[in-house]
Amino acid sequence: MTFSVRDVRRDFPILDTEVNGHPLVYLDSAATSQKPLAVLDAERDYYLHANAAVNRGAHTLAAAATDAFEDARATVARFVGAHDDEIVWTSNATEGINLVAYALSNASTAPDRYRSLALRPGDEIVVTELEHHANLIPWQQLAERTGAVLRYIPIDDEGALRLDLLDSTITERARVVAFSHVSNVLGTVTPVEEFVARAREVGAIVVLDACQSVPHLPVDFHALDVDFAVFSGHKMLAPTGIGALYGKRELLAALPPVTTGGSMITTVTMERAEFLPPPLRFEAGTQRVSQAIALAEAVRYLDALGMPAIADHSHTLGARLVDGLRSIEGVRVLGDQGAAPRIGLAAFDVEGIHAHDVGQFLDDLGIAVRVGHHCAQPLHRRLGLIASTRASSSVYTTDEEIDTFLDALAGVRGFFGVGA
Ligand code: PMP
Repeated sequence: MTFSVRDVRRDFPILDTEVNGHPLVYLDSAATSQKPLAVLDAERDYYLHANAAVNRGAHTLAAAATDAFEDARATVARFVGAHDDEIVWTSNATEGINLVAYALSNASTAPDRYRSLALRPGDEIVVTELEHHANLIPWQQLAERTGAVLRYIPIDDEGALRLDLLDSTITERARVVAFSHVSNVLGTVTPVEEFVARAREVGAIVVLDACQSVPHLPVDFHALDVDFAVFSGHKMLAPTGIGALYGKRELLAALPPVTTGGSMITTVTMERAEFLPPPLRFEAGTQRVSQAIALAEAVRYLDALGMPAIADHSHTLGARLVDGLRSIEGVRVLGDQGAAPRIGLAAFDVEGIHAHDVGQFLDDLGIAVRVGHHCAQPLHRRLGLIASTRASSSVYTTDEEIDTFLDALAGVRGFFGVGA
C-alpha cells in the first residue's frame, strides 16, 4: 500500500511558498513538520463551535469540550499502542521527560506509597551518547538531586551504539535506562528490544524518547514493552504546544505528581490534598484542549495514509538521501552504518565548509535544512565536529526535492572554492 505524495502536498499550502525566488524545498521536518489543512481546521472548528474549559464546567459546551478532549486522548493512545489512561498530555517531549525525572526525585521525599520508584545515592541512570539534550540534561539533573550516578552507552567512530557494552553498562545498580528510538542526528533506529531485555534483567525502568519515531514508523508501546515514552505533536503534523507522555498504568500510579494545583485533586483542606489517579494527576491547570484535538486530527491524517506506507516512504527517502550524499566528494554522512535501518533523515559534514555556510548557500536556493549541533553536542564532539547540516523529510517530501537538494549540495564546495 502506498499514497500519493502529490495529493498529500495539496493539503499543505505552505509548501507552495517561494523562497529567494525558488520553490521552497522544506527539508527541516525533524525540527518541526508542516501542518495539513485538516489539522488547522480541527483547531479552528473547536474554537468556533466547542470552546470551553474541560473537566470542570457543568454546562453543555464544557461537556462537549471534555468529550472531545478525552476522545483525542483515546485516538492518540490507540495510535501508539496504549490504554487511554496511560497517555498524559504535555507541551512537548522535553516536558514529558522532565515530568518523569521530577516525579522520580519527588518519589524520594514523598509519602511511603510513592517510594517504590525513589532513587538513592549510588543508583544508576543509563543513557546513550547520541541523545538529544532533552533526554540527557533532565537525567543529569536527576542524578544531581538524588546522588544517583549517570552512565552512558558510547557510540563508535561511525556513530553506532556500542551494543556490546550494554550488559556491562546497564548493571544491577541501574534504576532507569533512557534512550531515543530514532536518533535526531543519525536517523538510525535503536534496537529497543535489546535495551528492554537488559533493563528487565536488572529491574530498571525504560524511558523511550520516541520523538523521531512516532511520526515515521508504526510504534506500539505495549509491544515494545517500554515503561515510559514521550513524543511531540509538532513533529507529526500537529501544532506546537502539545505532546504526550506514555506510562504503564501501574508505574504512573506509583508516581507522585510534579505540577500541582487545580484539576488534579479529589479533596483539599488547608493542610493537605488528595490527588486524582493518572493521567489527571499529572495535568494540573487549564489544559491544551485545541492542541490535543488537533493532534488527534494529525493522527487520523497519518492513519489514513497508513503508518506502514509512511515508513516505506521514509526509508526510501533516507536511502536516496544517503546514497546521494555518499557520492558527493568531500561530504561525510554522520552515522553512515551501511544498510542499518534509518528514517528519511541524514546529517552530514562538508569538508572545509562550516555548516552555517552550507545552510546559507542552500537557503539562497530555497532549500531549508537545519545547521548546528541539533541539540546533541556530546554526539557531535564524539564524531569530531561542532556542527553539521541535517536534511530531514516528512510525508509531503518528494524524491525530486531530495534530488534538488543533492544537486545543489554538489555545487557547494565549488561555490566556496574549496577542494577544487
Ligand atoms: N528528542 C529528540 C530525539 C528530538 O528530535 C527532539 C526535538 N528535536 C526532542 C527530543 C525534543 O522535542 P521537543 O523540543 O518537541 O520537546
